[in-house]
Amino acid sequence: MKVTKITETALRDAHQSIMATRMRTRDMLPIVEELDKIGYFSVEAWGGATFDTSIRYLNEDPWQRLRLIKEHLKDTPLQMLIRGQNLVGYKHYPDDIVEKFVEKSYENGVDIFRVFDALNDVRNMKQTIKTAKAQGAHVQGTISYTISPVHTLENFVELSKDLEALECDSIVIKDMAGLIYPIDIYKLVKLLKEETDLLIGVHSHSTSGMTPISYYTACEAGADILDTAISPLAWGASQPPTESIVAALKGTQYDTKLNLKLLNNIKKYFEGIREKYAGLIDPIAEKIDTDVLIYQIPGGMLSNLVSQLKEQNALDRYHDVLEEMPRVRKDLGYPPLVTPTSQIVGIQAVMNVLNGERYKIVSNEIKNYVKGFYGRPPDSINPKIAKMIIGNEKPITSRPADLLKPEYEFYKAKGNELGVINKEEDILTLAMYPAIAPKFLAGELEEEELISIKQAVIDNVNIEIPTEYTVEVDGDLFDVKILPTGYLNIEEQKNSPKGDAEGGVLSIMQGMILKLKVNIGDKIKKGDILAVVEAMKMENDIESEFDGVIENIFVEEGDSISAGDILMVIK
Ligand code: MN
Repeated sequence: MKVTKITETALRDAHQSIMATRMRTRDMLPIVEELDKIGYFSVEAWGGATFDTSIRYLNEDPWQRLRLIKEHLKDTPLQMLIRGQNLVGYKHYPDDIVEKFVEKSYENGVDIFRVFDALNDVRNMKQTIKTAKAQGAHVQGTISYTISPVHTLENFVELSKDLEALECDSIVIKDMAGLIYPIDIYKLVKLLKEETDLLIGVHSHSTSGMTPISYYTACEAGADILDTAISPLAWGASQPPTESIVAALKGTQYDTKLNLKLLNNIKKYFEGIREKYAGLIDPIAEKIDTDVLIYQIPGGMLSNLVSQLKEQNALDRYHDVLEEMPRVRKDLGYPPLVTPTSQIVGIQAVMNVLNGERYKIVSNEIKNYVKGFYGRPPDSINPKIAKMIIGNEKPITSRPADLLKPEYEFYKAKGNELGVINKEEDILTLAMYPAIAPKFLAGELEEEELISIKQAVIDNVNIEIPTEYTVEVDGDLFDVKILPTGYLNIEEQKNSPKGDAEGGVLSIMQGMILKLKVNIGDKIKKGDILAVVEAMKMENDIESEFDGVIENIFVEEGDSISAGDILMVIK
């Protein structure tokens, strides 16, 4: 009899989906040995947003987390999610960085690489798959599942065959939005079992409420692996609960043979973790939200969208943005909504709504998407919209990474010059996030004192901090509301001029000044780029609306800005 295998997502996707990926390594380690006893197919513990948040918010080295988890996870394969040529970042990296990153990931403990591409463009997965296979890892090729007029069963089967030809060991249907219908997963799994010789896994989220039924029909169609999250971190935007799925399959021909009593130890531990992080749990992400059946927004993106709109003081536009998102997606040729296309579509929908004029402001990422630098969109891009975004420029047709020059030696030299490289992995961290990594690697991200305040906040969340207050403690708000650095930011923002002074260049959104392209006294023309702002992880050019001379500049590179701040004055 066949045994259904289970991948436990508690250490990666579950906390990414419901508590903004904030679980700390020290809260993972005490339970890893217990996880190791269960007999899971794998424990997903790395990749996705865990790398980013470790550096950006937790001041933790993701490589060290990987090593420490692996030390205690002796019998169970450790799994990571990797974004093909985007690795754990948001852009395409050259092949030499991909190779090094995959080699080091394997060396530090990754046994199973789940490789996906947001556009299901196999050319973007090739290098990662090839390198992981060369290490001897298990490689799981991914179908980024979505619903659109151009995503057919035949397309998904074709993609799976391509992945099989690349020697993938298994295939996973990655339903990142949690919207797959029981009948559709049945058909897809059945076809994949017929057309390939590989293990077929199903990854979904509970968002629509249908997922446990879809998991059952997937089993009926022959699925081999299911992704679940231990119950305290399950439901809502996260996976269905491990114990419930294990129990539901018990005694059927799809039995997992996992021990519910042992699982209960894991459950008890994560109940405590849940309490500890209660203030970080997003109430919206915890609910079943049948809107997903209409808007197709993946779990992680919903909670992100809420916090982004909060930052922009525009939470009241939530539903307008939800409505705009499918329109943007259609304009762009129906990309599946998963990192990084979910951010590209998401931020564009936000900008279109907040500006009241569609595509008036576009991120550099969406320009690159339209130019073909993310790969081949599933359908053709609306030509009118393409023209608004990139003018008459012609998109590329080659594999995007073919145009990239090697970068590893560059970052090695740069890191050494900055004096922040203590191990080879640090070079990769720098290459992933050149804007934030130097501070992190130099240990300057936070002073000792601030870390202890932050730690106290998390550790005593139930004792000293009122719940209402800690709900605010999420993402960037965490800094603004609680930490002394946050207070400084608020003071700065109070001092920076607001309003509509004549010739003033206003910030439309909350974000960070990445680059200043002009100096006081510079002559500029309408359309010239004045500054590049990073908002919602996307880069946005601020262009001049008129000809003139830069009379004053109120911001510096690295400054945080709010919507309505005057950045500079043009005379
Ligand atoms: Mn997921």
